[in-house]
Amino acid sequence: MGLVRNFAGWIKASTFGLGRRLTVVFGLMITMLVAIMILVNVHVQHQLLSEQQDLRAGHLSTLASELSIPMLLSSRTADLEVIYEELLAQPDVDTVRLIDSQGWLLASGSPDDPFLATITDPIVQRALETRQTQTTRHLHDLHMATPIVIGDELYGVVQIDMNYDELATKFRHLAERNLIIGAVLVGLGALFSGLLASRLTQPLDQLTVATRKVASGDLTHKIDLRSNDEIQSLAESFNTMVENLQDSLRQVHKVAYEDKLTGIPNRTWLNHQLERLTLTHALDGDSFAVMFLDLDKFKNINDSHGHHIGDLLLKAFAKRLEDTMQSLDLTVLTVSGEELAAAKLGNDEAMLARLGGDEFTIVAPTHRTDELARSIIARMGEAFSLEGRSIQTSTSVGIALYPDHGVTREQLLKCADVAMYQAKGAGRNRH
Ligand code: GH3
Ligand code: MG
Repeated sequence: MGLVRNFAGWIKASTFGLGRRLTVVFGLMITMLVAIMILVNVHVQHQLLSEQQDLRAGHLSTLASELSIPMLLSSRTADLEVIYEELLAQPDVDTVRLIDSQGWLLASGSPDDPFLATITDPIVQRALETRQTQTTRHLHDLHMATPIVIGDELYGVVQIDMNYDELATKFRHLAERNLIIGAVLVGLGALFSGLLASRLTQPLDQLTVATRKVASGDLTHKIDLRSNDEIQSLAESFNTMVENLQDSLRQVHKVAYEDKLTGIPNRTWLNHQLERLTLTHALDGDSFAVMFLDLDKFKNINDSHGHHIGDLLLKAFAKRLEDTMQSLDLTVLTVSGEELAAAKLGNDEAMLARLGGDEFTIVAPTHRTDELARSIIARMGEAFSLEGRSIQTSTSVGIALYPDHGVTREQLLKCADVAMYQAKGAGRNRH
């Protein structure tokens, strides 16, 4: 168990990612399967070859015995030598002997065996004693002693020794062939397990990448998966979750950065934007203007028409400001869900925000400022029609330029505010 645990630990430590781990597990399973198949195949083949060899030994032994009987009875053992020599000529036959019931050698295919020598081979002794065929099998050879019994009389024993050289060669070839087939199967298995693992883990990889992107704040990423399984439903839930997250973020942005009365961006949003702009413009030195707008004598409108009409005027004022900017081909940036702050202000881009009360702020490219201020003062001087009443107002504008009048948000807002009060002091309805 400990060994298995250690091995599992090693796989975990030496691989990274589910894909590779699955590849190793599948690969090991396939290798084990192939190894078991090869072992079973080799075992069966070995069994078959051994049985074949045993049959052949039995057959040769019976043949030798049958041929020996007439010669034995007629004592013509010289003729037997010729037959035995032929048997010995077989590559798997090492010894063929005819031994009489006393254990004396009567005939042998080999000239090295002396006639009438006493054979003390235990297998021969056992065959003589038991009158039963005796067989001993070793790894590389087989010994067989077959008694010759006619009626009740024991005449002798035929001894045959056989080698398994041919069998061993056949077996080696078989093992080599199986080994090559095994190697090819393991190779194919490794390839297959790699492909299978990557196919299984590909959707998970996609999910991982998407999760990382969302975690890093990119809510635009979607997963497109058609696997028709739990992973696809997980991906769909993930996409829904990201959409909900986007909606929530938009809501949060709206609540945090939109002015409730007019619907245009609020002071917090403007502060963010100016903070970012002053940082990025500090790097490349482009110029922009901060315009501070304040309605003239707005209190009087509240006092004479009521707070409600004052609110409507602030809304209509904001709308007219936006229209004026757009009529000068300026794109007015809004509170968007994805990107809170613009890194740079384009040549035809501008920002509009309500700071609070009757104060508004515009950020625009410097070269458009004069034209914009004149248009605003002219347009805001035109009467507003609110609930059947014609309301007349005017605006005073203070302008601060980046970087001439300030390089930080605070400096720019302060300067624009001071300039606006100068415009008020100089008689209002001017910039
Ligand atoms: P000035 O020309 O000097 O700017 O005179 P003013 O009367 O406009 O004075 P000031 O700008 O200081 O006053 C702005 C007034 O706007 C004060 C406040 O009563 C009013 N006000 C602030 N917020 C709101 C609002 O949300 N709705 C309405 N109707 N009035 C508001
Ligand atoms: Mg005012």
